Amino acid sequence: MGSSTVLRIVLVSANILLALFIFQNGFLLKRQEISSKSSCADAHAQPGQPCWMEQQYKRVILILVDALRYDFLIPQKLEKESPEWFYKGQMREIGKMIANGKASIGTLLADPPTTTLQRLKALTTGTLPTFIDAGDNFSPDVAVNEDSFIYQAAQLGKNVTLLGDDTWLSLFPNQFTKTAAYDSFDINDLNSVDDKIAPKLHEEVTSSESSSIIIAHFLGVDHCGHKFGPSHPVMADTLRKMDKIISKTAESMNSDDLLIVIGDHGMTSTGDHGGESDNEIRAGILVHSKKHRIELPKRPMHQIDIVPTISLLMGLPIPFSNLGTVIVEMFQRDLWEMAVGMNYEQVKRFAETYATQKNFGELHSYTARDSNTMEDQIDTMSRIQTLLRVAWTQFDDAYINVGLFSLVEAVLFLVTNEAMSYEWIVYRTGCALLQAALLTDKTDSDGSARTLLLMTLTVSILSSIISLAHKALQVGT
Ligand SMILES: [Zn+2]
Repeated sequence: MGSSTVLRIVLVSANILLALFIFQNGFLLKRQEISSKSSCADAHAQPGQPCWMEQQYKRVILILVDALRYDFLIPQKLEKESPEWFYKGQMREIGKMIANGKASIGTLLADPPTTTLQRLKALTTGTLPTFIDAGDNFSPDVAVNEDSFIYQAAQLGKNVTLLGDDTWLSLFPNQFTKTAAYDSFDINDLNSVDDKIAPKLHEEVTSSESSSIIIAHFLGVDHCGHKFGPSHPVMADTLRKMDKIISKTAESMNSDDLLIVIGDHGMTSTGDHGGESDNEIRAGILVHSKKHRIELPKRPMHQIDIVPTISLLMGLPIPFSNLGTVIVEMFQRDLWEMAVGMNYEQVKRFAETYATQKNFGELHSYTARDSNTMEDQIDTMSRIQTLLRVAWTQFDDAYINVGLFSLVEAVLFLVTNEAMSYEWIVYRTGCALLQAALLTDKTDSDGSARTLLLMTLTVSILSSIISLAHKALQVGT
């Protein structure tokens, strides 16, 4: 094999490989993590207040019912023959709490992918999925490096108890004070985890030495969905069981506690989740407090809105990378402006850092203008959230097209069987360098590398076509 043949193989293979990488890049989520953490010094409600806002509840009890779809909580009476009967209106004690004005329910929108691990990250950090996320549901090291309310609580010496799904322990190693965690992967096991943690939750809620944040993650509803789907008698039983656990917790908690019940995602009519259909992204939320009557808004809230809300209610700094907006309805009216203001400053701080560190200039136009009223601040936060959601989670057509174009060019060159002249060596090397540049400098914000590459590729494709036509003519004569 002559050295020119070897060179030809090496260069063309490099071009094909790079083309495939560029193509694949178009399908990746693009968010990059920032490891900065918020600190108490970032915001003060008033002089003398040590950390952000004054703590509003002594304890927050967060019951996470895996795959609790929003409509499972809605009180309603259906005909027993209806397939919806099995999952609608089964939570009767909750129905009574709502009727008596003791509890309020609403809809939380989860960002896809609607898988548990990604949702737990969002529910604690207030962020959107990162590009490695979708693939690492089962990878061993998933520890959260970004700021979260779990980290903030641990930092400020507040105890956090975790009961249930052991995924939490891999996300936050060594950050819980008390744990009773169990394996979550056996979907045939509908009851054992829930049966173990229900008494532990009651014990913790009624204990005088309990933690400030109690998280109980129940798995039965999710596992029942996977095994039988929502329209099944077992689902009705499982929901009634959860109904009892929730109402018992509400009864036995103290007057200065806050109870929040949430689903991490919903489920389809066959009981699956992971995608972005309405039934998968719409999760339920219920809140109950003996101290204040809380009326959740009718508009759907975002799942990440839970993060700044819990943080401020518990006197913690809002996690640095949070993009959620406080649910003001969960605060006393006289605290709304302050809560939104702190949230706004935090989101702005994050946006400015992301714009600078990760070369995302578009954000500057949002952070540069001053928003003074509450409505204006909420509007700016929602614009920043929308901009980043679109930029981070949509497929990048430019990369997909350049990748395909590169591939066509390399294959055409291969087919022409052109000898490896000096010109071709220079050309193919240049092509590979441009492709590599496109991959390493993902920002290529003005698109110059892309344009140059596309122009070069077009010349090569034309040359290959001419050469092929030439050969065809020669054969013809
Ligand atoms: Zn889940």
